[in-house]
Amino acid sequence: MREEEESKPSISFIEQFIAEDLKDGKNNGKVITRFPPEPNGYLHIGHAKAICLDFGMAKKYNGKCNLRFDDTNPVKEDVEYIDSIKEDIHWLGFDWEEREFYASDYFGKLYDFATDLIKRGLAYVDDQPADLIASQKGTPSQTGTESPFRKRPVSENLDLFKRMNKGEFEEGSRVLRAKIDMTSPNMHLRDPIIYRIIKSPHHRTGSTWMVYPMYDFAHGQSDYFEGITHSLCTLEFEVHRPLYDWFIEQLKTNDYRPRQIEFNRLNLTYTMMSKRKLLELVQDGKVKGWDDPRMPTLCGLRRRGFTPESIKRFIDLIGYTKVEAINDVSLLEHAIREDLNLRARRVFGVLNPLKVIIKNYPEGKVENVELINNPEDESMGKRMVPFSREVFIEQDDFMETPPNKFFRLAPAMEVRLKGAYIIKCEGFKKSDKTGLIEEVYCTYDPDTRSGGNASDKKVKGTLHWVSAQHAVEAEVRLYDRLFNHEDPAGQKDDDYSKFLNPDSLKILTGCKVEPSLSSSKPLDRFQFQRLGYFCVDYDSTESKPVFNRTVQLKDTWAKISK
Ligand code: ATP
Ligand code: MG
Repeated sequence: MREEEESKPSISFIEQFIAEDLKDGKNNGKVITRFPPEPNGYLHIGHAKAICLDFGMAKKYNGKCNLRFDDTNPVKEDVEYIDSIKEDIHWLGFDWEEREFYASDYFGKLYDFATDLIKRGLAYVDDQPADLIASQKGTPSQTGTESPFRKRPVSENLDLFKRMNKGEFEEGSRVLRAKIDMTSPNMHLRDPIIYRIIKSPHHRTGSTWMVYPMYDFAHGQSDYFEGITHSLCTLEFEVHRPLYDWFIEQLKTNDYRPRQIEFNRLNLTYTMMSKRKLLELVQDGKVKGWDDPRMPTLCGLRRRGFTPESIKRFIDLIGYTKVEAINDVSLLEHAIREDLNLRARRVFGVLNPLKVIIKNYPEGKVENVELINNPEDESMGKRMVPFSREVFIEQDDFMETPPNKFFRLAPAMEVRLKGAYIIKCEGFKKSDKTGLIEEVYCTYDPDTRSGGNASDKKVKGTLHWVSAQHAVEAEVRLYDRLFNHEDPAGQKDDDYSKFLNPDSLKILTGCKVEPSLSSSKPLDRFQFQRLGYFCVDYDSTESKPVFNRTVQLKDTWAKISK
């Protein structure tokens, strides 16, 4: 981690551009950015990288960041997505105030602009089907072929475009294209389609429109209409920039134009970032919804127990560059461990319980032992945890015939029950049928209570535990990588579904947690001592809490896969 922190430039190249523009007095010293999601899915952690930059730069330079929904395709978009996107941005800690915009706010202006282009001989209606148009586009090394409709008279284009919008023609039967240059080395300038016929109603404009602008025709102009000074987007839009510039050139009435700056996408190992593919996972039932804790979506990460701070920290660590890369998910896990280490209350939870009976501890007696809530933060205080004659420990904290260096419980061995007493194993009960250990019998030394007379007696192991009569029964969901390939969506010959990890979810029932946890609320986060960080799931009830494991204390995957 050190290395990464040290090699990170103090300000990104994007910030340098913005600072330069301010120094040069461009845009009257204003910085206005925007985050432009298409409401066709839930936000993922890649979007968080864009959000942190768009809102972060505006904040840092005393500017504003608009939220603009690029809702140009009524077929794929939905209000459900709009609501979730807003919730996720707020959760990350950003706010667009009253500046909630929609590309659909500009449908009228865009339609007028398209009409204007037709009048100026810069756009025409093409009657060819989309696949034929695509095949005439040529290749990067071979120029395109002009459409037979390219020279259509202005009056005919105007009439047809109007009638396209009245619903007189079938979807796909005609499109409007910008007349730019079929020989341009940039394929995007080869008479791109700018309007198509769609007859499905739009979630905001209803059936006002039968023609809809293409994303490329809406995006740059929307920036322009909003007075965006810095339009920050991912690298794949670099090649679209000349087209955006061409449109603005036709549209602009003064010197102002948005400045587009591209940066590298966030990609994560063992998952994928495409909304379309994530939607498939949801629709095919491979996960339990957009907020399944295995998803790289912001709602999934939230349900898993990630904090906004950890996500922002991770984004800070990876930085903004011009080079595409896949970021290691262990770095994200490092960020959440670091954050929760400072704020998560330590508690006792036993995932695979084994009963220990302390033979010489008085029956019916209950003592409350005091435990520190967080050694990293004294202000989090202490809590009392009940101790009694029967306690649960983890099954793998006991072995009948332990190997060397097994510093936990085994016949004749002593361990400390954290915060309570040192116990010694005197025997155990094993099932004849299954060979499983059913109970362990111990004695305790009353002088060894933590903080008591002989509390400094040395034993090698310290175990977490939960008093049997006070234990709250819980369900615990253990998550692992959703895919067992580092780049599941990047394999040419194999579909990502081939790499789904069949063991990505393991549900444990009958876990035992300390009683203080029965009052916890969804999204409360804890460190189960010695095990990892856990977060209360939405499915949780007071009588049956459900916990999601956010991350283990140490990165076991890295060790196993070596
Ligand atoms: P996807 O490819 O996942 O479907 P998208 O690019 O279609 O995403 P949009 O809703 O258009 O999704 O994205 C909104 C903004 O978020 C865009 O400016 C886009 O550049 C940015 N963005 C999307 N994915 C990433 C990513 N992985 N890393 C950084 N920024 C991203
Ligand atoms: Mg997009």
